[in-house]
Amino acid sequence: MQAPGCQTLLQMYAEPISGRHWLQLRSGLADGINARPNHVTGHQRRIMTDKSRNYLRSLACAACLLLLSSVAVSAQAPLRIKYWLAMPHPTSHLFEVTIEVELPDNPSLTSLDFQMPKWSPGRYAVFDFAKNVQEVKAREACPAGLDCTLPDSQVTRIDDQTWRVDIAKNRHAGMSLMLSYKVFGNDLSGTFSQLDSRHANFNGGCVFMYVANHKQDPVALSINAPQDWRVVNGRTDRKDQTEFQFPNWDVMTDTPTEISPDWTDDSFTIDGKTYHVVVHSLGAEGGKRPALVRDLEKIVRTETAMWGPPEFDSYTFLIHFANDGHSSDGMEHLTSTQIIQPGALGEGNTYEETLDTAAHEFFHVWNVKRLRPAELGPWDFTRPANTRGLWIAEGITNYYGHLMQRRAGILSDAKFFSALSEQIGDIENSPGSKLMSAEESSLVAPFIDDAPHAQQTNLGNTSISYYPKGETIGVVLDLLIRGKTHGKASLDDVMRRMFEEFYLKSPNASYYLRGRGYEPGDFQRVASEVAGEDLSDFFKRYVRGVETLPYNQAFAQVGLRFVREPRAPVTVGITADEAVKTSFRIADVRPDSPASRAGLQQDDFISLFGGVKLMPANLTRTVSRYKPGDRVPLVVEREGKTLNVMITMGEPLLFNYRIEEDGNASVEAKTMRAAWLNGK
Ligand SMILES: [Zn+2]
Ligand SMILES: [Zn+2]
Repeated sequence: MQAPGCQTLLQMYAEPISGRHWLQLRSGLADGINARPNHVTGHQRRIMTDKSRNYLRSLACAACLLLLSSVAVSAQAPLRIKYWLAMPHPTSHLFEVTIEVELPDNPSLTSLDFQMPKWSPGRYAVFDFAKNVQEVKAREACPAGLDCTLPDSQVTRIDDQTWRVDIAKNRHAGMSLMLSYKVFGNDLSGTFSQLDSRHANFNGGCVFMYVANHKQDPVALSINAPQDWRVVNGRTDRKDQTEFQFPNWDVMTDTPTEISPDWTDDSFTIDGKTYHVVVHSLGAEGGKRPALVRDLEKIVRTETAMWGPPEFDSYTFLIHFANDGHSSDGMEHLTSTQIIQPGALGEGNTYEETLDTAAHEFFHVWNVKRLRPAELGPWDFTRPANTRGLWIAEGITNYYGHLMQRRAGILSDAKFFSALSEQIGDIENSPGSKLMSAEESSLVAPFIDDAPHAQQTNLGNTSISYYPKGETIGVVLDLLIRGKTHGKASLDDVMRRMFEEFYLKSPNASYYLRGRGYEPGDFQRVASEVAGEDLSDFFKRYVRGVETLPYNQAFAQVGLRFVREPRAPVTVGITADEAVKTSFRIADVRPDSPASRAGLQQDDFISLFGGVKLMPANLTRTVSRYKPGDRVPLVVEREGKTLNVMITMGEPLLFNYRIEEDGNASVEAKTMRAAWLNGK
């Protein structure tokens, strides 16, 4: 990208520019200083660099926007806020943050609250980032030309996530409050942050406090990196950039950033937009990076062909090959994605898994980052987000992640069908699918989206994930719409119409972003309009209800057969604790199973099953000798006692699913299948 000219600035603040933003910008946040906060003086803050001159010139463009803007000005006067991020001791894993707030000439302002969010967008579990904050201090800094010595300000922690700083009543005009703290980060993740001897990779939500009631104000960020470490993120527009401006705190934290000496950058251009593939490999690449870039280009071409060219000038795939066997994530952002693979690019299935994640994350450019449920932006970070729409935002994205890989020629038909079958199996084999709907799964995201649980839960038996559930709804809805309209419309049209209505054409509902969020009923209405018939019964049964989706009917629309086969001829309903090899300890009992009815429980040892010594390795072979209805004697050890238990073998509960071509498919069905698979 180029230095901010009129076009760029308009784009940046197409995310709304309100009156207060304009005033804020005009007051000169755009300085190009790169100094440690301790050395920042009022004079330095006012140095007019070439960059700031350009920036101020460009504000003339924004003035036109201001006249057109209809966004209401908040009662809270905006503050000038700048963040300074340093990392002088990488091996300590401590980021050092200073937040500089220029104090307004307002004697009634006697304190400011600074808050760490409890969670961050895209990962809905509550992680309480404040737990890693330490050494919070504050002082007031003098304005330029004044020689004054000020004592440290009083900082009081007032709750688990908030620090209150008292402000001197008799202060000079132009004084600033400097809040500083350290924050620990040693997780390479789409949500957390990592600072170590190799790199700094941060997600702003777990690093930057916001100024309470001023999250909407524009912010600047200055990064002081170790020598020879280079900074890159989805808002980088020039080499060696360390200074960034954001329209608000939310967008700053939407910009994950990598800082290290050895990342690589490959790029390609589509529709005049530049796509960067920034890779930090912590393992061998096996010469696969050029092919990866070419395949990412195919994915971008395919997804932009469905949606139309995106509104940004550039986008960054920020990819880590962690090579540690456990760091794994994918996180969507407005102009970037953070992808972390646990392996090395040159090894195992890492290459394929990277493309799978990228196809999903890039689809989020539209679905969830811009077209979004009403609750997803701006956010309240004092409590978890509750939305019914994650089956759309994540589940339908999961469906398109797979479909787009097929359309891009990365997945064969067989592999695409296999991916769909696996998702269907995830849902249909789960006892939770009879208890929890797609909408309810979305609402309990804070419990199931990688949430840590110190207390044992029964969620494995009572919940489903909105990822596979939304994917199964997505594919069935897509194929039924294609069938109802004889191939004239599809879920592609539903998604595009949603994007148009709620993002492109809606007035801005908040400071955060263009357009407004949708309600669950909106999706049902638009899907019905596209299908040409009322789909309320479908949504009642399969989205708000827990009925099994009409898979046979859906796949038949495109000349495919949906095949369901038992995984085993009988069911017992137990899984083995694989850590125990020479005896059989029950890891889990399925609630609707013979084992549950027979009174077996977790941690029971089954020593004999029908007279055979049971071990994890012979479970399948042992139970397969029986048929449903057979009564089998077990010898069970529980808490030092031996129990004799009779179990009645059950009908199969677990199934394998398969999607295959129907040799008798009509020409119309085959034509619709080709359109579905090829996106024509
Ligand atoms: Zn890195
Ligand atoms: Zn996602």
